[in-house]
Formats: sequence, C-alpha cells, structure tokens
Amino acid sequence: MSRFKYFPYEPRPFQEETMRKITRYIKMGAVCLHAPTGFGKTPVILSVLLPFIKRGLKVIWAVRTGNETDRPIEELKIIVEKTGLDILALSYRGKKDMCLLSRRYGELDYSEVSYLCSQKRRECPYYVNFLENFDYSIFREHSPLLYSDIYGIAEKEEICPYYAQRALLEIADLVALSYNYVVDSRLEWSIRRLFPYNRAILVVDEAHNLQNIELNSEHITLGTVRRALREAEEWDAPMIADFVSNLRDKVDKLFRALADEEDIAFTPSEFIAPTEYDLLDRARALGEFIRRKMLEEGKRPRSSLYRLAIFWKKALELEGLEGIAFIAEKERDNLRLNIWDMRSAEILASRWPIFKRCIFCSGTLEPIEAFAEVIGLDDYYPIKVPPIYN
Ligand code: SF4
Repeated sequence: MSRFKYFPYEPRPFQEETMRKITRYIKMGAVCLHAPTGFGKTPVILSVLLPFIKRGLKVIWAVRTGNETDRPIEELKIIVEKTGLDILALSYRGKKDMCLLSRRYGELDYSEVSYLCSQKRRECPYYVNFLENFDYSIFREHSPLLYSDIYGIAEKEEICPYYAQRALLEIADLVALSYNYVVDSRLEWSIRRLFPYNRAILVVDEAHNLQNIELNSEHITLGTVRRALREAEEWDAPMIADFVSNLRDKVDKLFRALADEEDIAFTPSEFIAPTEYDLLDRARALGEFIRRKMLEEGKRPRSSLYRLAIFWKKALELEGLEGIAFIAEKERDNLRLNIWDMRSAEILASRWPIFKRCIFCSGTLEPIEAFAEVIGLDDYYPIKVPPIYN
C-alpha cells in the first residue's frame, strides 16, 4: 500500500513519486502537472491535498463545464469508503440544474432560470421550505455529495436544491465547480463569500482549456435583431420599433456585403449613435417587461429585445478598450456579431494570487512554459509524468 494514507489504490509507477513532488512543491508555490491520460491524476492530487484539509485548508476543484463536477466527488466517495475519511465535499451546479420550480416552465436556459428565481423566489414553495426546514445533517450523512445526491435529497424534502447546496458550501471542505466561478469575477463573488478563496487550494483540472477560455464574450445574430423588431411591433412600441428597424437595416447591409464564411471587424458606435442610447435603455426596459409578462403566463421568460439591448450596451461600453474585438461572421443565411475579449492572460494572471495555492493539471499541458505564459503564471513548479500509460 501507499505511504499516502488517503491513496485508495495499490500505487502504480510514478504515482508515489508524483505525490511526493506535489507535497513538496505545493508548500512553496503553484504546481503545473503534466500527466498522461490514465495516470490517475484525480486520486493522486486528492491524496496529497486531503491532509491539508485536515489542517484547516479548503479545496476548490475547478473543471471546464458544470457536467464534469461529479468526477472528483466520485473519486472521493471511493477514498471515503476505503479509509473512513470524514469530509464534507460537494459538486456545485448553477440554478439551471438545481431549480425545482423551473420544471413547471419546460426547458429553460441559464439566464431564464436565473430570471425566474429573481422574480419568484419569495413565493417559491421550495425556497420558503428551505428557510423553514433546512437541516444540514440529512445531507451531511451522504457526503461526498454528487449534485444529483443534493438534488434528490432536496426534492424528497421539498426544499430548494440550489439554496441547500449554497448552505452546505459554507461548511464544506471541498467543492467541485466549473472554471467560471474561478475566472469570471462576476460569478466569483457568489461562491467566494461562502467559501473563502484565500484559504483554499485551487486545482484546475484539464487546465489546458484555460488557454482557449472566452471571458466576457457575447454574441447576437441578425435573427436576434429581426425577432427584436417583431417583438417591438407586437408590443406596440413604435419608437423602439423604428430604432430597431434602423439597426436591422445596418446589420442587414453588413450581411449582404459579406461573402459566405467571411468575417470582418465592426465598430459598435457606427450602428448606434449617442442620441439613440436612450432608446436602447427603453428597448431593454420593454424586454424586461416582456420577460416578466411571459413568466406570469407560465411561459419561458424570453425576449430578443432584452438580449439585443444587453449585447449593444456591453459592446458600446467595451468599445475602444485594448484587447476587445468586435467581429461579424457570415454563417450561411445569418450574420453573427461577436464581442471577443482577448485579455485572458491579463485577467487570468490576476486570479491566481487570490488562492492559497494553485495546481494546474492536464494530459496536454506541454510545453508547460508556453501554457504558463498564456495563463499569466510567472512562478510555478513543473512536474512531468512520462507517457507510459498511453
Ligand atoms: S428558490 Fe430555488 S426552486 Fe425556487 S425558483 Fe429559486 S432556484 Fe428555483
């Protein structure tokens, strides 16, 4: 057996050596671990970090998408089963996966569920029940908790799974969540105020994906503009309809000027003049009103006017900033307008010092120097495991 008491398997070549290196390096700074697929990065890293949790630190396990948050928790379940470790760990998901009320409205996207909750929370029976009857112990005895464990228990108790997991987060030792909660400062605060990042070791799994991360990026299409115009007409808002109609003409002109698959940079202020900013605000207000009305009628709270207004407000705000690109792409019979934020290295570099320590791991981190440069990491300890398992 391994001398690492939380490692649940008979060690294979390089695993103990890697655990020793991580243990040594993590005390000094960030670690970049390149190890081939099948090496067992997850149990190796967990086995090193669990003693740190016993000493009062926490662990954030960041994965590329919400769908992957269960993986480290499944591995922890094996460790708990084999070692009897007592730990509160959970897989964290957004409202889209954790809202019980949204089931009444069919398939909603992230922003629609968020909107639903902001409008209905006070009267939501699951939220009221959460406030009155939430009991940590029912969840704790099932830890480590997959998101489906939390959802299932909450559903049975008829309490809100989303707020239940947030209450658990406050006392959790380890949380697995998507990169977005780490790299996006707009989302970060919702977690950070419950789970102190400065006392946490961050593990970024499949970290090579950080090189392609799209922060602050946004898009709409010519279709969005056309639907927004129809909405303004249907809701009898002639001034807003005129404004959107002008905008549609400009976007349409750009669409016709491009060949198939061609793309071109555009300037937001050439589409919306300062004298029209007020109309943009009104379009947004009408979009919000439409969303509210749809919700009241039990429909998806969706509005193209709202989406259009949010996109252009953001585009106008970002215009002129270094590292921001506005690109129009012609895709068959549609035009896609993109805001691309290319300040990733700069933004990412500001994230890592927030944590106590960071571990970046992947099967494709090489060359590590180039990876570190792209994510804005100056000092780190590299570990390379040879490709013996491929
Ligand atoms: S409180 Fe929970 S169940 Fe109710 S709307 Fe919000 S996320 Fe959904």
